[in-house]
Amino acid sequence: MLTYTTIKELRKALHHERENGKTIGFVPTMGALHEGHLELMKRAKKENNILVVSIFVNPIQFNNKEDLDKYPREMEADSRLLESVFCDYLFAPTVEEMYPAPDKTNYDFGLLGNVMEGAFRPGHFNGVAIVVKKLFEITEPHRAYFGEKDFQQLAIIQQLVKMLQMPLEIVPYPIVRESDGLAMSSRNMRLTAEERAIAPKIYEILQKAIKLKNVLSPEELRRWTSDQLTQTEAFRLDYVEIAEDQYLQPVEHWNNASGMVLFVALFLGKVRLIDNIRIF
Ligand code: AMP
Repeated sequence: MLTYTTIKELRKALHHERENGKTIGFVPTMGALHEGHLELMKRAKKENNILVVSIFVNPIQFNNKEDLDKYPREMEADSRLLESVFCDYLFAPTVEEMYPAPDKTNYDFGLLGNVMEGAFRPGHFNGVAIVVKKLFEITEPHRAYFGEKDFQQLAIIQQLVKMLQMPLEIVPYPIVRESDGLAMSSRNMRLTAEERAIAPKIYEILQKAIKLKNVLSPEELRRWTSDQLTQTEAFRLDYVEIAEDQYLQPVEHWNNASGMVLFVALFLGKVRLIDNIRIF
C-alpha cells in the first residue's frame, strides 16, 4: 500500500493508474477503522482494479467541538487493517492540505437536508458535501462506497453527485453489526463498558418495532419506539423517525411510499449513536 499525504502526489499516481486502464474504487472514511469499513473496502476491491481509501477527520462536518476533539485517531492500527484488505492507496491529508483556504460553499439539499441529522446537526451535511466533492475531484473514482449506517449521508451524496453531474457510481452498502446487533461505529470505542452493554438494546427495539407495522400506524410506531427507548434511562433521544427512503420525509400512512425506514438517533453517555432499519 502506498500512503500519500499530498493531493498533488496522489493525483499523479491515480492519473497513471487510469491511463493504464485501471478502474478505481474509493472508500472515504474518518479512520478508527472497524469491520464495517473493511467490508465496504473488500467490496470495492472486488469490483475495481484499484482500492483507494481516505482517512480524514473532517473538522467542518463536526458541529460539536468535543466530538471532534475526542474522535478516535489510530493511524498505525488503521494502516495494518488497510494492508489486510489489500488497499492500494491510502490518502491521509492534513487539515491544511484539504483546506488551504476556508471553503464557503453553501449547498442546498432541499427537503433532504432539513430533516433528522440535518435538523439536529446544523452544517453537518454541508461539511460532508464539501469534503466528499473535494475527495471525488482528487481521486476521480469510477465507484465510491458508502454505508447505509449513515443512510441520510448516503442520500445526500447521491443528490450531490446528481446535482453536479459527477461521473461516478455511488454504491450503497448494508449496515454491518456486532454479533449482539449494535451497528459498528468508530464512536462505539468511546462507550464505557456499562454503556457498551446497554447499546445493543437499540437494535433489539428496532427489530421489535418493525414487526408491529401491521398493527400500528406510522405515528403510533414512532411513539412506541420512543417509549421503548426512553425506558432505558441511559438513552437520551434526539429523534425517532419513520420516513420514505428517497427524500427521507416523514410518512403518515403505510400505503403511500415504496420504501420506508425507521431511524433513531440518541446519546448514550457522551456518545451519539445512530441506527436505522428498513420497514418496507
Ligand atoms: P466514517 O469513518 O464513520 O465516516 O465512515 C466511513 C464510511 O463507512 C461511511 O460510508 C459509513 O457509512 C460507512 N460505515 C461506517 N460504519 C458502518 C457500518 N457499521 N456498516 C456499514 N457501513 C459503515
